[in-house]
Amino acid sequence: MITIKVNMMKLFFLSFFFTLPALAGIFEVQWGCPKTFVQVSFNDQGKLVLKPDVLNGKVKTGNSQETEACITDFQNKIQTAFKEYQSKNCQSSKEDLCIVSVDYINLKVADKIQSSNVLKKFPDLKISTPVTVISDKPVTKPEEKKDGPVTAEAFLQEKIAKKEIDPKNLSQSFQFKNNSYKVSDFDKVVGEQIENIFSTMNREEAKQFAQNYMVSKSDLIKASTPSENKTQVLNNLNQMFGYIYGEKGPEELAKILECKPEDDLKPITDILSNLEDTKKVEKCKDLAPGEHKVFKKESSDYYGTGHYLLKRSKEGNYQAVVNVNFKTGGGAVSPQEMMDRSKNCLNMASPYLKGPDGKTLQFSVLTPEESQKLPNDERPQPYEVKIEPVGYGTNAGAYAQDVDCGTITHEMLHLLGLCDEYEETRPQYGNMWNCRVVTKVPSIMRDTGAYKQALPQSTSCNCSSQTCSSIMKGTDENIKKIYTGASGYDIIDYKFRNAYCKEDYINGPAKNLKDPSKALTVVTDSANVVVMESRFVSQHSVAPFYKLLRSRITCTCPAGDNNCIEQKTKLIALTETENVKGLCPHGSTLIAKL
Ligand SMILES: [Zn+2]
Repeated sequence: MITIKVNMMKLFFLSFFFTLPALAGIFEVQWGCPKTFVQVSFNDQGKLVLKPDVLNGKVKTGNSQETEACITDFQNKIQTAFKEYQSKNCQSSKEDLCIVSVDYINLKVADKIQSSNVLKKFPDLKISTPVTVISDKPVTKPEEKKDGPVTAEAFLQEKIAKKEIDPKNLSQSFQFKNNSYKVSDFDKVVGEQIENIFSTMNREEAKQFAQNYMVSKSDLIKASTPSENKTQVLNNLNQMFGYIYGEKGPEELAKILECKPEDDLKPITDILSNLEDTKKVEKCKDLAPGEHKVFKKESSDYYGTGHYLLKRSKEGNYQAVVNVNFKTGGGAVSPQEMMDRSKNCLNMASPYLKGPDGKTLQFSVLTPEESQKLPNDERPQPYEVKIEPVGYGTNAGAYAQDVDCGTITHEMLHLLGLCDEYEETRPQYGNMWNCRVVTKVPSIMRDTGAYKQALPQSTSCNCSSQTCSSIMKGTDENIKKIYTGASGYDIIDYKFRNAYCKEDYINGPAKNLKDPSKALTVVTDSANVVVMESRFVSQHSVAPFYKLLRSRITCTCPAGDNNCIEQKTKLIALTETENVKGLCPHGSTLIAKL
């Protein structure tokens, strides 16, 4: 059953008169003049055209003059009725004539008209089933006896013309010069046949056909490089969607092409077959406690992800497991090291992965060997993830060797099939992702910094200098905190600092310091001016091998600069929490960042 909103129907109705080209779906009408069959169609200007049903060059019944007159009469009547009906009724919800026009476009003609009020308005009108088969032999041209077609394409065209191959059957294979081909291999031929194919289908069948075609062409559609073939496929789809959705065709097609990969669970159009819908229902069904399910990637998932095991404990908590085979690429970190890091990151993230009902999700990654030890029906398929050098653009299939926990968690979540949630502004991706949901709440799929927001980050560093060893092995806890704490340089945004702050070094002994364990503390704060003291450690050649240096940072907001005042307030709040450096302090080297 088609449900189209009222306004849209009106739109359809208007548009078919003015913009739509000649449409397929010719149907026969038996009109009041005795036994007269006519073909109803629309011409290039979108006007309703009624012609004697000339099959194979013969008027089917009735004499031609009688037929012509009858047709003119019918044409006038039906056009007047259409217009009158449209102006009166197309805003109301009962819009049979509008529906007729819509459904005509949507290839569901005869059955719809038969059930509509059109018949009541034209009691003499009888509509036969759509013309599907031309019964008599086609007018035969003198056969050209040549060497036969030279290409597989020409061969297919000939077979279709002879009705030996049905172009509706995209997967039908045929042999040509010892090679095997499928109908769907020939996009140009498919394109030529669309009108022919669609004229014999109702709307549901047409949708199914378009979907089959899309599936058979999915590799080409997904290919990022433009090609002649891709253009032909898109043109074909455009034409098919035009038949199915009328003037909304291009929009519907764009939605499918752009959004489908992003929108696995809620198909944005009804193009997905019932079969696929049932699959989804099955897929979305909640696991009962104690149950488990192995998910496989969706063909529609652009990332090519979705292999994972989902288990539910007796208590109702969830466990998701992905199987990753880390491989050495250009990076210097070993697969074993990367696996250890990833396990650790996911372990730390897991307590924060909670459902709306408070149920937790333990998210784990296993090596293929570890996965092999799971029971047969609990083994997710493995992914390969390469390890690349520092600076590499990390993605779900390749990590830069210095990848941090937030990013690892983000990329691993992609493997579950989750999508990005940030706005795509990189020009090379164009509009490809413009249907993506851009979340407003903190989300690790939008900002990997959410990881740090959710859980404390730990950086492990090795002392590589006497200064570091001396401080860390010593007993002065304050200097340890200052050494490892975030200084003014770490905390104060450099743009803010450049614009509003000045720094003066403080000479003299560091006695009776305010907040002696802090690397940055507020000394005074007024409406417009904040004065802070920043402390840092410098290396020294004699014991204790360090010196404590201090500077005064004065930031002044010009009167009326609310943005500056806002940043100042945030900055003061930051100095009040305990801040640890994100990087290893001078004189130490990074072991791991988790
Ligand atoms: Zn991502």
